[in-house]
Order: sequence, then C-alpha cells, then structure tokens
Amino acid sequence: MKNWWFIIVCMLFNSYLAFAQSSQDISVRIAKYKGDKNCAISYTFDDGLKEHYTLVAPKFEELGFRGTFWINGIKINENENAPADTTRMTWGQLKEMAGNGHEVSNHGWAHKNFGRHTLDEIKEDIYKNDSAIFSNIGIMPRTFCYPHNTKTPEGMKIASENRVGTRTKQRSIGSKSTPEDLEKWVNTLIETNDWGVGMTHGITYGYDAFVNPQRFWNHLDKVKAMEDKIWVDTFEKIVSYIEERDNTELKVTKKKNDIIIVPKLSLNKDLFVQPLTMVIDKKGIKKATAKQGKKKLEVQIHPDKVLFDFDPFDGTVQLNLK
Ligand SMILES: [Zn+2]
Repeated sequence: MKNWWFIIVCMLFNSYLAFAQSSQDISVRIAKYKGDKNCAISYTFDDGLKEHYTLVAPKFEELGFRGTFWINGIKINENENAPADTTRMTWGQLKEMAGNGHEVSNHGWAHKNFGRHTLDEIKEDIYKNDSAIFSNIGIMPRTFCYPHNTKTPEGMKIASENRVGTRTKQRSIGSKSTPEDLEKWVNTLIETNDWGVGMTHGITYGYDAFVNPQRFWNHLDKVKAMEDKIWVDTFEKIVSYIEERDNTELKVTKKKNDIIIVPKLSLNKDLFVQPLTMVIDKKGIKKATAKQGKKKLEVQIHPDKVLFDFDPFDGTVQLNLK
C-alpha cells in the first residue's frame, strides 16, 4: 500500500514539474524589429529631385517598399505644366507619393545650414516647411532631416519638437557606391541587428548621382530577396517602432495555457502610432489566440515561436497557447 502512495506522489510531482517547466520556458519579448526580422533599412531621398517621383517611387512600389522623401518647399513646383525648376518635383507629385504610402517630410523650407543661421531663422525655415507640406499634401511631417547634415544642440531641440525622430545618422548611397560595399553594408546590418539609414540625392543627375544607376536597382532587388531578414520601411515608421520598443515595459503573468501581458508606454500616443511585434519563444505550439481588449489579434505560428502585432497603448493582451 505504501508503495502505491509513493508512486502516486511521484506522478503528481512529475506532472507539477512538467507544468512548471512548460510555463517557465516561455519567454515573452518585444521583437527588435517588426515581424521579428534581423535588421531594418530606411531609404531616404533628399532635396525633392524629380527623379524621386519618376524613377524611385515606381521601383519602390514594384518591390512593395516605401521610401522617405525629405523636401525643401521653396524648390517644389506649383505649376505642373510649366515648372519653375524642371529638376524638382511638384506638390501634386508629392501628394500622389504620400497617398501611395511614402513619407514626405521636412528638410527645411530653404535648406538653411544650422551652423550659419540664427535660431529664429532656423525656426522659421522648419515651421514654414511644415505648413507648406501640410497645406499641399494634408499630412504633418513627423520627422526632420538636417540641411547639409548640420546640427547644433539648440537647433536639434527645435527640430525634434512634436516629431518621432530626426536624421542623426546616415549612410551615403550614391556616386561612391559599388555593388560590393552595398552588399557588405546589408550583411553587416543583418549580423549586428542594426537599423541602416540610406541617404541618396541624385539618381542619374545632380548631387552625388550614381556612376551607374543600375547598381542601385540591383541593390534593391537583392534586399527584396532577403526580405525575410530585413524590414524596409519609412524613416518615420522605423524610428517610431524603435522608440516605442525601447520605452515599453511588459508585465507578464502566466497561468497554465494563458498568458496575460500588460504593456506600459508613456510616450505621446498621438505621435507614436506604430504597432509593435510581440514574440513568444516556444517550440511546438499548435494553436494560439490573442486579443487586446475586445480586439482579436492576428497570430502567426512558427515552429519555434508565436508572433503578433499589438498596440502598446491599448492595454492588456490576453494570449492562449495550446
Ligand atoms: Zn539637402
């Protein structure tokens, strides 16, 4: 009789251990990049050159990519039929690009160098361009790109107000680009889980234009082929994701097959509107459902993990795994 009790106690203890292990070996984390990809790239195009509309936007749309176009309002053409500067885009073209999901944003109304103008002049250059972009395309810029990449601490403070980020790092992609160094750049981003910000001006003409533009198109095709590892999106979306990711705290409670996750984020919810990707690292999950409030979240089940996007401002996430 005693032996039987011993066996029953052992069985109960073992099943307790199995349960304790199964709930402990689940790790809940926010993905470094959307979709838990290895790295991210934003392609940014400066100065509003016409080729950004005629060549870049169509190629990006063909690949399913979206770019960031930082423009100077003073150079943008009002008249589509008789443009004042044939090398630059028109407001109508920019509105069409924004409508297709590209980011059209602020590079200063007249490209004023932060190091050579007063703070009041810089302020006016920034605000005037915000108003021009808002009144012509209906979207308020949420990022900023420093003209000539010149920055001063006071100027950066003004340029950063009411924005999700400003361009403080960039990698030139243009006249000096070779297929080898572009490939090395991408491979390094993948290995180091970094965010690359490409900076391009001219494609076939103008400042820093490519010696051979085909190099750029080939590079984009290669990145497309590695899309499972690389998140390509606008500067605004990726910088927002990173800020939200780095400032969100998760409180996780596990109970059998249920996981309750309470996210806490104290950024400005009107500016930071990107969903974050949650990752549950666990092998062999067959079924998973997730909801945030009353909203059902779309869950992706992989052999070693479960992924879903959630809104870090939207309260408790309830997850059930089987
Ligand atoms: Zn510029």
